[in-house]
Amino acid sequence: MKAFCSFDQQQQHDPQTFISNGHFQPCQEVPQRLNVLIDAATSGGLHVVEPADHGLAPIAAVHTPEYLQFLSSIHQRWQQIEGSSDEVIPGIQPNRQDFSYPESPVGQAGYHMADTACPIGSGTWAAVQASANCAASAASEVLDGASAAYALCRPPGHHAYADMAGGFCYVNNAAVAAQMLRAAHDRVVIIDVDLHHGNGTQGIFYGRSDVLTISIHANPISFYPFFWGHASERGEGAGLGYNYNLPLRRGSGDNAFLAALESALTRLHSFAPTALVVSLGLDAFEGDPFAGLTVTTPGFAEIGKLLGSTNLPTVIVQEGGYLCEELGNNLKSFIYGFTHP
Ligand SMILES: [Zn+2]
Repeated sequence: MKAFCSFDQQQQHDPQTFISNGHFQPCQEVPQRLNVLIDAATSGGLHVVEPADHGLAPIAAVHTPEYLQFLSSIHQRWQQIEGSSDEVIPGIQPNRQDFSYPESPVGQAGYHMADTACPIGSGTWAAVQASANCAASAASEVLDGASAAYALCRPPGHHAYADMAGGFCYVNNAAVAAQMLRAAHDRVVIIDVDLHHGNGTQGIFYGRSDVLTISIHANPISFYPFFWGHASERGEGAGLGYNYNLPLRRGSGDNAFLAALESALTRLHSFAPTALVVSLGLDAFEGDPFAGLTVTTPGFAEIGKLLGSTNLPTVIVQEGGYLCEELGNNLKSFIYGFTHP
């Protein structure tokens, strides 16, 4: 299986700011994650290659032009504000959408950024495009007949909406892959196994019946992203019944996670999809710094095995999973299970 990674470009995003519980803290979404995941992919038997440059079109297929104009230009415009910080961080956030669109970079940062966990630095846009190229190249590989491909996306993407960054995410890489797969597949399913609800992915496809979105995650009643991810969110309009959330009690481990995944697969089979995108977060791990769930390293092999047993052409898109002793082993464990269903 091929793994797509553009190390030089993706490492250019190096966020310095993360506000947690009112304090500035070091950001967990660090370039070093790339080194760990590349090593793990390689020793797990994957062939790591550079993605092709797919240009803006696959990204523009799932994001608004207004938002992409913002992402590509805001860092430079922000620097023109006297006394501004190196990174773009919103200081004002409207309760959105029904309000007018501001001209000011300060107002636009508030409009397009859901929280303070998606700072935009000088290298962010280049890294975000490279990360999306990984997803697009993996989708292209599967469209060309590969049974599966792994996109080593970083920054991750599943919290990014069509017009809003959030939670370390800017462009929704899983949505980019799923939309590309639609060229040859009438029905595509996305299963998100990241610790956090894939709210951006849900938002992008919420009104659509051609892409079934499923997410297993820590219950948002007490966990990020807080406002989305409840079981009652089932889609809207033509998409009603095409979104399936499986929130788990904080601290849940392998048994609860795998039982939820069985339910997800039952729903998947009822949709009769012909292609699968896996949003692969590894932060449901018991030793992850975010400490929300307690999936074990062997548990990731079981998750991989169940997803591999679908026998669908699959794009695996890296989401979260943060520096800890077992991060690399968790990816290897997943890959082993996925390739030995
Ligand atoms: Zn996560």
